Amino acid sequence: MSEIDIAIIGGGPTGLAAGLYAARARRRTVLWERGVLGGQIALTSLVENYPGFADGVLGPDLAIDMQRQAESFGMETVYGGVDRLRREPGYWVLATSEGEVRARAVIVAAGADPVKLGVPGEEALTGRGVSYCATCDAAFFGGEVVAVVGGGDAAVEEALFTTRYARHVYLIHRRDRLRASAVLQQRALAHERIEPLWDTVVEEVAAGPDGQVASLALRHVASGSRRDLPVAGVFIFIGHRPSTELLRGLVPLDGGGHAYVNLWMETGQPGLFAAGEVRVDSARQLATAAGDGVTAAVRAEHYLQQYVD
Ligand code: NAP
Repeated sequence: MSEIDIAIIGGGPTGLAAGLYAARARRRTVLWERGVLGGQIALTSLVENYPGFADGVLGPDLAIDMQRQAESFGMETVYGGVDRLRREPGYWVLATSEGEVRARAVIVAAGADPVKLGVPGEEALTGRGVSYCATCDAAFFGGEVVAVVGGGDAAVEEALFTTRYARHVYLIHRRDRLRASAVLQQRALAHERIEPLWDTVVEEVAAGPDGQVASLALRHVASGSRRDLPVAGVFIFIGHRPSTELLRGLVPLDGGGHAYVNLWMETGQPGLFAAGEVRVDSARQLATAAGDGVTAAVRAEHYLQQYVD
């Protein structure tokens, strides 16, 4: 069984920032990524809100640079999954697709996946008008008509944010009442550019000749009537699911599956950290994700010095 110092599970900005710090501290650091390196930024075209890039930066380019930077200090990247995590005296044992690996400290940075509608066109048009992040993408829809799907705090808050740019925002909800908090509801329902479409579900996202979102096929659930709604973009906020399957049973999780941590990203289990969107109360931003990874790596180094070296 191979032995390493710091294992990082997840190759989004949290994991890559953790990898940079861990490897630069001269710890043998291995990062596992089962999907696309870069996580959610790999799905984002232009990142305009990461400090230090006054002209913005392309998400995939930033991900590649983050990986290059961490690897230049010795971080190793494995494209594969970690299936299980268990504690043995002095180590965590990771069951990976390539066999078992012992790590003295583990940083779980597996991120979260937006819940998908699961309708035709949604996946193919992601990044071409379908978005799961208004903070990231609303600015691309200046003067356009867009739709936001969902009725919770996230959907309502992001609908309000989107009005900074869009000329008209349809708020499409499957029921006749919002789930969002009263203050957000009041603000959204009083907003002149937000129009709620009640009891309505999206059945399909359709593209125009330019390959960008052009319309939504809607169904009114009460009457069953159908219609097409022309929009330039659709923001989907029907919940996020943190990827914390590995932590289940090892550390306490909240009702939404997020791991409880302290301000150092410590889970309470020795040498086990949870950072970024897997933890409770994440701001869900690229800069905070990277910050969480740095915090976890700094604390992991401290843990290794204090208890292991
Ligand atoms: P949420 O509260 O779970 O709301 C999800 C919304 O999506 C609900 O309105 C739900 O409809 C709808 N939905 C779920 N599945 C759907 C589907 N398949 N098709 C259509 N609609 C669907 O999720 P969230 O808004 O992401 O919030 C998550 C947590 O973060 C909450 O605790 C929230 O309070 C918190 N949050 C707080 C703030 C804030 O305080 N400013 C901002 C963002 C998030 P139903 O209502 O019919 O179930």
